[in-house]
Parts: sequence; C-alpha cells; structure tokens
Amino acid sequence: DVWILRIGHRPERDQRVTTHVGLTGRALGAGGMYLASDDKGVKKSIEDVADRWGGDFKVENNVSWKKVIRDWKDAGGKVVHLTMYGISVTDAMPKIQECEKVLVVVGAEKVPGDMYGLADYNVSVTTQPHSEISSLAIFMDHLFEGKTLDLDFEGAEIKVIPTECGKRFES
Ligand code: SAM
Repeated sequence: DVWILRIGHRPERDQRVTTHVGLTGRALGAGGMYLASDDKGVKKSIEDVADRWGGDFKVENNVSWKKVIRDWKDAGGKVVHLTMYGISVTDAMPKIQECEKVLVVVGAEKVPGDMYGLADYNVSVTTQPHSEISSLAIFMDHLFEGKTLDLDFEGAEIKVIPTECGKRFES
C-alpha cells in the first residue's frame, strides 16, 4: 500500500503541479493522495480522471499532515520524505521495499524543518534540485522495479491501446 502526502500546496500557484503529483502517483500504482491544504478543485480534477480511467485512487483534501504521519506510523507504515538532501534512492530502496505500507511525502516551496525528523527515510533522487513530480515518478518506478508501468485499471471507461503511430482507444 503506497499513498502520497502532498505538503505545502498553495492553491493560487500549485494546482497544476499538485494535480500531476496525484496523477503520477495513480498511474504508477499509489492508492491515493493526502493533500495537506484545502483545494477541492485539485481533488475533483484528479478524481474526474480516476472516474474515467479506472481504479479507485482517492484524494483526501485538507488533512493535517502531522496527524496523517502519526496515524500512518501507528498503523505500522513507514514514511519516506523525498528531498534532495536525503540518502540516495538506490541505497535506501532495499529497506523501503521491505515495508508493507509506504507514505511518500513531497513538498512544494519550503518543507518545514520537522519533516526531516518525522520521516523514517529522507530519500533523494539525485542531489540536484528538480521537482516533486519527477522525484515521485522515479521513486515509484524504483520501488516497484518497473512492474507498475503497465497497470490495468479496473472499471475504466476509456483505455489506450498502445500503437506505433496514431491514437487507439477502447471505450
Ligand atoms: N527548495 C525546497 C526545499 O528545500 O524544501 C524544495 C523545492 S522542490 C520544487 C519541491 C519538492 O520536490 C521537494 O519538497 C521534494 O519533495 C521534491 N524534490 C525536488 N528535488 C528533489 C530531489 N533531487 N530528490 C528528491 N526530491 C526532490
């Protein structure tokens, strides 16, 4: 079970990035995203995609991030904070892959200092600054060793048939 926790989202400027954090997590096998801000628009746009494209990815809006972390740990889960200051994803992965429940935390502009101490693992995807979307994608791909690249989403209204040229859909 893998969920994402998005902290620091600013509704006035992060809507597109946060939506893409959710869609990336969903596409690569996460169960849902906790959003530690109030943005019903982001929740709705991700869930609209999930309705059409299948599966049951959930977005929980306006959570308290510290409470989500506490509850996750109480339920026996581990917390992975993606940050360029952490230990490398390849070094951290063998231990993380032993966990049954993984909460992946991604920030926006500035992550509160306490986050580093609350995480079980602070993990970097390179030590260069880039983005919550790219770091999440690479983390998920390493976690699942590529196995979630072609997931089947139950109850999809629409499905792409991979093709060399052009666009093929099944609906
Ligand atoms: N400068 C901010 C800080 O130091 O807290 C981070 C800004 S970055 C645009 C937003 C998020 O992308 C970070 O919180 C982190 O989750 C993720 N991120 C960016 N680069 C990363 C890297 N090299 N490895 C892991 N995560 C990264």
